[in-house]
Amino acid sequence: MTRQRIIVMGAGVSGLTTAVTMSLAGCDVAIHAAEGPAQTTSALAAAIWHPFYQAPDLVYLERARVTYATMLRLSADAASGVRMRTLTEYFQRDAGVPWWAECATGLERLAQGDIPPRFACAYRMNVPVADAASYLRYLMNMFLELGGRYVQRRVGDPASLLDNADRVVNCCGYGSRQFGDDDLSLSRAIVLRAKRDDAVRGCFIDDSDPQAPTYVVERDNDIVLGGTADPDLTSTVIGERQIEDIVRRCNGLCEGVAALQVIEARIGFRPMRRAARVARDERHPRVLHNYGHGGGGFTLSWGCANDVLRLAGVAGVAGRAGVTGAHP
Ligand SMILES: Cc1cc2nc3c(=O)[nH]c(=O)nc-3n(C[C@H](O)[C@H](O)[C@H](O)COP(=O)(O)OP(=O)(O)OC[C@H]3O[C@@H](n4cnc5c(N)ncnc54)[C@H](O)[C@@H]3O)c2cc1C
Repeated sequence: MTRQRIIVMGAGVSGLTTAVTMSLAGCDVAIHAAEGPAQTTSALAAAIWHPFYQAPDLVYLERARVTYATMLRLSADAASGVRMRTLTEYFQRDAGVPWWAECATGLERLAQGDIPPRFACAYRMNVPVADAASYLRYLMNMFLELGGRYVQRRVGDPASLLDNADRVVNCCGYGSRQFGDDDLSLSRAIVLRAKRDDAVRGCFIDDSDPQAPTYVVERDNDIVLGGTADPDLTSTVIGERQIEDIVRRCNGLCEGVAALQVIEARIGFRPMRRAARVARDERHPRVLHNYGHGGGGFTLSWGCANDVLRLAGVAGVAGRAGVTGAHP
């Protein structure tokens, strides 16, 4: 049987996981991307598995579950940049066990006396966290080792590639807006990178304020402090007050943050949509889309890639291996 020829557009976390998944399924895959992994929005992410600002949703849950399982497997390989870390999440309203927590291992509710009194409850669990730069490099290497090809180029229209491929998968993140999706918008995010320090171990989140999500994420090479969520704001200026505010909020979740040495302040833009678009194009059914993951691009990545595989009709592969079964 001839192998399906696939072009994946984009080399962020969505493009790379899709390209690896399709390569593992036996497809002949090339990535065409305007910018390499290190220049993408994905490279700026805290890259913790967590359903940021997400209402309960069964499709989301299944994709997040597949991703959790895959990243858990990858964490066994030190080169992947993925580690399992303890996440403590604080809630200002007690709505019981978080709807997505069933995906995670080691779930426990903290005793009321052990949490700051302004919170109604807190849960602790183990979640995968990636050092984004190392992880994206690792995925690219895996893709190339599987025989994939990488071409650096900006594409004007996904359908224009159909002469050279059986299917084209658009994983262009916010770049997909230029292909006519008016439902896609930006949410600006400011994050700080601090030097690692023994005073901060594990990850801490309070995302009850949708405009001021607060998170401390321990990674291999740094500690990420966040953040902000500013819809439609495109300014790239970061004020001293915003940095102080992030450090203050993070210190409220984990004492020790105030003493950290902040080495960098960064701005990124989340590709927002009501829901990620993982679907066939209406006009060109051989064009598939996988973009618009908002604050959950890492959290959804392997699950969405599996769904793309199904949409591509690669017979039996998602069941046989999917990415979860075939990884090193
Ligand atoms: C500060 C910050 C923190 C975050 N933290 C987390 C987190 O902890 N956990 C989590 O799950 N998510 C997090 N997110 C969200 C996550 O980063 C995004 O959802 C994810 O990076 C989107 O990945 P993507 O591959 O779809 O797009 P991108 O990473 O933007 O990649 C798009 C790719 O498409 C290419 N491209 C664009 N246009 C074209 C074109 N015309 N032709 C060819 N190529 C093109 C680009 O060059 C790039 O290679 C965070 C986001 C930000 C900004």
